[in-house]
Amino acid sequence: MSLRIVPVYPELLSIYADRGNVRVLEQRARWRDINVAVSPLPLGADLDPAEADAILIGGGQDRDQALVAEALRQQVPALRSAIADGVPVLAVCGGYQLLGHAYRDQSGRMTPGTGLVDLETVAGPDRLIGNVLVEVEVEGRVERLVGFENHAGRTTLGPDVAPLGRVLAGAGNDAVSGAEGCRVGRVIGTYVHGPLLPKNPWLADLVLGWACEHRGLPVPLQPLDDRLEQVAAEAAARLALDERR
Ligand code: GLN
Repeated sequence: MSLRIVPVYPELLSIYADRGNVRVLEQRARWRDINVAVSPLPLGADLDPAEADAILIGGGQDRDQALVAEALRQQVPALRSAIADGVPVLAVCGGYQLLGHAYRDQSGRMTPGTGLVDLETVAGPDRLIGNVLVEVEVEGRVERLVGFENHAGRTTLGPDVAPLGRVLAGAGNDAVSGAEGCRVGRVIGTYVHGPLLPKNPWLADLVLGWACEHRGLPVPLQPLDDRLEQVAAEAAARLALDERR
């Protein structure tokens, strides 16, 4: 019985190495002797919610988002079904923006989102680029999220949508509110690229644990030796803090 990871439209939504997030989930499963199958959903294909244990949506340029928006919206019933069944969704930057109602880019073009999360994104006059350090409270503990961001979009969360975390260095959702990303149940959106998961093993295992639970595989996951990942995360955190000075 394999754990099924589904990257959505990776041929278009995988900017700044976001495809690395798929590899990290896959490898952290294999290190635990969990059989895993990665089944990319190509543009034009339909998601089968019964065949997914984790869904990943990467980032993209404005034009790539506009290219996939209509097809992604057609996947909303399947996405809602998967989410209701406990399948985690991890959406990064452009993918995160498409979780919301719409994204208005710098040309004024409105790209419709899935509406899966109550959020809106409007591009600002400049791009928010740099290393980012975020404090995340999850399952009763405080974790550090590190990486880099490169987005014109400024995302505003609806009143009932919690941010993923609090920006300690960098811009986050809008460079004003101090909020970064969103979390609604097992749906996580974030602006953090890198790719995100190699330097944030705690987040990788959070998503992987949810996916295993959905598949009926044993949880909690056996701990891995993350010393190398922690060294990388520490270096990334220092970069973000140094940039703030
Ligand atoms: N095109 C979107 C923006 O500029 C998302 C960019 C991205 O995915 N890195 O905000």
